[in-house]
Amino acid sequence: MTLSLTTPRPLIAGNWKMFGLETSLDEARAVAAAVASKPPAARVALCPPATLLHRMSEAMAGEGVLVGGQDCHQSPSGAHTGDVSATMLADAGARLVILGHSERRAAHGESDALVSAKVEAALAAGLEPIVCCGETLAQRDAGQAQAVVTGMARASLPASLAGQDFAVAYEPVWAIGTGRTPTVADIAAIHAALRAVLIERFGQHGATVPILYGGSVKPDNAREILATPEVGGALVGGASLKAADFLAIIDAA
Ligand code: PEP
Repeated sequence: MTLSLTTPRPLIAGNWKMFGLETSLDEARAVAAAVASKPPAARVALCPPATLLHRMSEAMAGEGVLVGGQDCHQSPSGAHTGDVSATMLADAGARLVILGHSERRAAHGESDALVSAKVEAALAAGLEPIVCCGETLAQRDAGQAQAVVTGMARASLPASLAGQDFAVAYEPVWAIGTGRTPTVADIAAIHAALRAVLIERFGQHGATVPILYGGSVKPDNAREILATPEVGGALVGGASLKAADFLAIIDAA
């Protein structure tokens, strides 16, 4: 990936989803050690389940690996059994938070409006949101991918993101965890459309917001995907669970 002076460092973020016990921190420690010994071109983040957040934050302290949450509630506190607020994520050491992941949109009925409210909560807590959007296979087959993704982005990105650090992740639902990926041309087309939305919404700042690609990024396809125009990093699920695979993807950025 060629960087210009105005291009921010790419972001490679790992999403551990509902995987990981205390022993899994060894994988995070291995990532941190490699990043510390050979600082990569990309910023690196790991987003473990909430139960590991504090321990991972302590293990990663000063090591060049940022730690993030996978979701937050839209309120800072309250009677919301089982939920975790952005303030709590930050208190546990998180610097970023993934919001609007398709697994949450599908399994928890999260709407664009709710995702937008969560983004506001993340900003209020000082977290950098990674806002996800992506089409289903049926929507792609119907020729609606671009309209769906840009519509989700417009409705999920509140105006208060102006001037703030954040990233957008294009994650086609049918590519997540399936081993399937869009063609490079398809990724480029959606990322170009997202870039246009970001510039329309946020002006010059929108031209520099990283647009990550996510969906079956692996060591063997990372270099090609990360070299695609307007791809500013990757959101990595399965391949972030093993340090060797995640480091190979980080190296490709
Ligand atoms: C994800 O969970 O955001 C993701 C992209 O998963 P995977 O890399 O496993 O497809």
